[in-house]
Amino acid sequence: LFAGPVEFLKSAPELRFLPDPDVPEVAFAGRSNVGKSSLLNGLTNRNGLARTSNTPGRTQELNYFDVGAPPVMRLVDMPGYGFAKAPKDMVRKWRYLVNDYLRGRQVLKRALVLIDSRHGIKDVDRDIMKMLDDAAVSYRLVLTKADKIKATELTAVLEQTGTEARTRPAAHPEIIVTSSETGLGMAELRAAVFESITG
Ligand code: GDP
Repeated sequence: LFAGPVEFLKSAPELRFLPDPDVPEVAFAGRSNVGKSSLLNGLTNRNGLARTSNTPGRTQELNYFDVGAPPVMRLVDMPGYGFAKAPKDMVRKWRYLVNDYLRGRQVLKRALVLIDSRHGIKDVDRDIMKMLDDAAVSYRLVLTKADKIKATELTAVLEQTGTEARTRPAAHPEIIVTSSETGLGMAELRAAVFESITG
């Protein structure tokens, strides 16, 4: 699936800039600094496709990537959330953009919600999980940066995350554990992305 071209299509700061809804989409969400850009680059084997270490406070927009030419799927990099110093109106704008996108997008097949292995699920993550549940968009939790913690800690966070996922109406019960550093979980993640567009 990612052997062919993967290319940046456009940024959409507002819904009216979204591409025509004619290709299935898979969206990636997560707190700022969770490792989302690194994961997108690892997933697609393209260094520098998604810009890493984005500055908090950067423009809130949905970044679109075409997979295949013509595209068979689009990856949507959702704006990061949860940085401490974000101004209130920026948070509000994020909520409107994300909520409207999730509720109105027929071609959105699944979301992947990234959770930092070291921190587990935080309230800001529960916020987006609730939005996904309410919009009935199926999603899957992905633990990132698994190389940063000990195996015993990873087992514990995986357990907690799985337990919480199973209480959520739109969440997949199985968690994917990844590290962009070591490549852990990339094959599983690719399979999950592929499965979400093939059914
Ligand atoms: P984003 O803000 O969610 O897009 O996060 P980035 O992909 O820019 O990553 C934030 C920071 O975490 C960067 O310094 C990355 O090098 C680092 N990082 C990302 N993924 C991993 C990982 O799997 N393992 C380790 N050790 N560091 C990572």
